[in-house]
Amino acid sequence: MKDNSTWLNILEILKNELTEAEINQWLSPLNIKTLNGNPIILTAPNKFFKTWVEDNYLTLIKKTFKENLGLKSDIDIIISIENKDDQTIRTVSVERNVTTTDTTFDLPLNKRFTFDNFVVGTSNRYAHAACSSLISGKTTANPLYIYGDVGLGKTHLMHAVGNEFKERFPKYRILYTTGESFVNDFVTSMRLSKLDSFKQRYLNIDLFLCDDVQFIAGKSRTMEEFFFTFSQLYATQKQIVLTSNTSPNNIKELDPRLSSRFTSGLMVDVSTPSVEEKEAIIKKYIEIEDLTTQRFSDDIIRYLANNLKSDSTREILGATLRIFTLASIDNEDITIQFAEKHLKDFLMKRDKTLSPDSILELTAKYYQLKVSDLKSKNRSKTIALARSIAMYLIREKMSLSYTEISSIFSRDHSTALHAVNKITDELLTNHELEGTINVLLDKMKLIH
Ligand code: ADP
Ligand code: MG
Repeated sequence: MKDNSTWLNILEILKNELTEAEINQWLSPLNIKTLNGNPIILTAPNKFFKTWVEDNYLTLIKKTFKENLGLKSDIDIIISIENKDDQTIRTVSVERNVTTTDTTFDLPLNKRFTFDNFVVGTSNRYAHAACSSLISGKTTANPLYIYGDVGLGKTHLMHAVGNEFKERFPKYRILYTTGESFVNDFVTSMRLSKLDSFKQRYLNIDLFLCDDVQFIAGKSRTMEEFFFTFSQLYATQKQIVLTSNTSPNNIKELDPRLSSRFTSGLMVDVSTPSVEEKEAIIKKYIEIEDLTTQRFSDDIIRYLANNLKSDSTREILGATLRIFTLASIDNEDITIQFAEKHLKDFLMKRDKTLSPDSILELTAKYYQLKVSDLKSKNRSKTIALARSIAMYLIREKMSLSYTEISSIFSRDHSTALHAVNKITDELLTNHELEGTINVLLDKMKLIH
């Protein structure tokens, strides 16, 4: 198992150079067979993987071995399923749950992309519901078309559908591919005059998952073949799920016959997550990846959710992993200062002038009070309310801990927690309060 963890480390390092999707798709299914010696031998689940990785990633892999492990050996890739007696390799590929079938162009499903590991929120509610309804057979959505910006969970949901079908209906033939891989498969099949087996492969399935389908656009022969495949599967009532970075009508150079087919089923989008969703996703990620040796406090998670520049879940999780790795290496606590220092390029430019003081001033002014009233022990109704609102706003905007906020008001550490909870509860029903908070939030936007 030692080699397995070396490979996982290499993948971790490669995350700096490649997208997570590339790593999941192409490199996770590989493994190290022998590390000592020249060449280093890696195993791939099938020929297509071997060629693809050799053509696209071998130089980078070699460089990473050299720079991080000091290994200058050449690297050879062999196909693992040819070597059926090799128990070690078999166990490893079972562990990773790589679907190795005899079809060369199938891509593996990522075992970790499950419904259980997916956080549902307003940004992805419909997409999630549509995917789950496929499983329960409660829908006739065909095709199901999921679209949205990169990093928002489309691939995750698609794999979740595949994984769930695989578990519930073991006899189902599932084919997961990407637009890019479909193009390659088609072009290769043409070149080798193997179009028949290509057709055979794509038609002989029950569930067709095609991720990032936009990649077929602009390639007329491929689109024609895709149209044929689609129509045949559709006519025989096979479920089709597609994802894309945009709606069918916005894909440039997509055959109109395809966009009309793609729009004919159910289209759902995924949008950028709210701060609360980001927090929940980060928490889930920490749990799944077991990033627990270094403690992520709720304050840090909230800080990350509030301050990271990108709304892409992929990048948010990347930053979380980065901070975890750096803290583990130096064995440091993950504090806001630590995160600030190490995530500089990933953080939003902080509004320099928005501070607890400016929030206090704004709130006091709104209620025609003085800042000193808010900080005083006076418990008259208006002052107490204004004080609680100020605590709530500082918490919303400044990512300070409750203890820190309480101390601004010279209060016991749990005071801010109670005040913020009270306002949060109250906001659910009290529209006047909601209006006040919105006015104050708007005013804060004007501070420069
Ligand atoms: P897309 O295909 O839309 O570009 P991915 O599905 O590859 O995005 O998601 C990027 C990363 O973010 C993956 O690691 C995925 O597991 C994670 N992710 C995205 N959305 C969620 C979510 N709602 N809950 C948990 N993880 C998520
Ligand atoms: Mg994707």
